[in-house]
Amino acid sequence: MSANPQGPLFTKVVIIGVGLIGSSLAINIRKHGLATEIVGVSRSADNRAEILQRGLADSVTDNAAEAVQGADCVLLCTAVGAYGKLAEQIAPHLSPGCVISDVGSTKGSVIADVAPHLPDHVHFVPAHPIAGTEQSGPSAGFETLFKDRWVILTPLPQTPREPVEKIEALWRACGAMIDKMDALHHDRVLAMTSHLPHLIAYTIVDTATQLEDDLKSEVIKFSASGFRDFTRIAGSDPTMWRDVFLSNRDVVLDLLQRFQEDLVNMQRAIRKGDGAFLFERFTETRDIRQSIVDARQAGQFIPTEGNTDDASG
Ligand code: NAP
Repeated sequence: MSANPQGPLFTKVVIIGVGLIGSSLAINIRKHGLATEIVGVSRSADNRAEILQRGLADSVTDNAAEAVQGADCVLLCTAVGAYGKLAEQIAPHLSPGCVISDVGSTKGSVIADVAPHLPDHVHFVPAHPIAGTEQSGPSAGFETLFKDRWVILTPLPQTPREPVEKIEALWRACGAMIDKMDALHHDRVLAMTSHLPHLIAYTIVDTATQLEDDLKSEVIKFSASGFRDFTRIAGSDPTMWRDVFLSNRDVVLDLLQRFQEDLVNMQRAIRKGDGAFLFERFTETRDIRQSIVDARQAGQFIPTEGNTDDASG
């Protein structure tokens, strides 16, 4: 264990939802000595046993309200659709000065769902790590998930500096880089970089599932020609992604409209044999790819960004 030279950032950290993101956080909190005690919250008995067996938490419970008592940091790490109810359940049990943060892929909806429940004596620092894979559950986490990845914080105007700095320090200790922006801006950027690509992947794979059987089996056999990367993204957790689309509905629908118009332009160019149009578009997209490579945020496979196995939400 490499302890934090400044001593632990927190005394008791509660991770509600010890899945891919929650367990990766737990591994880092433990490894870097960021908390004296880690408590996990999980509904499933199997997951609770696995969390303890993997040493992800010192104790684990299915009772979030009980778990947060005496905690100075609570991290919401379930799918975003569960946040509102969880906030309502834990709010009366939060200690003064407790820092509440989250990892949700949408930020406007998270603030709307969580903030109204929280008492004035706690500090809410919404956060979103731009790192992930298509795996889920407590066995999916690993130490380097956040290394050299961005974490976007969307602090509320009334949140004091100190809790924001503590959450920044937590993520930096995990190897991440920090950016800050307002929640709506976050939701617009992520709708383009993550939500729309996932929707396209889900749709393409869904289209393939509707094909007649012989064609479908050939699609699977020859999937390495591009389809495979879409299937990896479309293999992401259905609960998480259902919640993302329902939580960022307006922004995604607006972007989808623009995407459909651009798709029609491509369709028209193909029909008219307009090679110049296609060549120009594909050259521009290649330049975007190069700038992602230059920013060291590219993986081996197209169209995801990040690690080679990244399907980040
Ligand atoms: P995950 O692996 O499915 O983990 C979520 C965990 O939450 C599950 O293991 C589940 O365990 C627990 N859970 C669900 N509902 C709960 C509830 N009501 N109370 C307590 N625990 C509950 O999901 P993940 O990929 O870590 O994603 C978690 C969050 O991170 C989501 O909000 C997502 O938007 C965000 N995020 C994901 C990615 C990504 O690429 N995966 C990237 C960035 C951010 P039990 O069934 O045992 O309770």
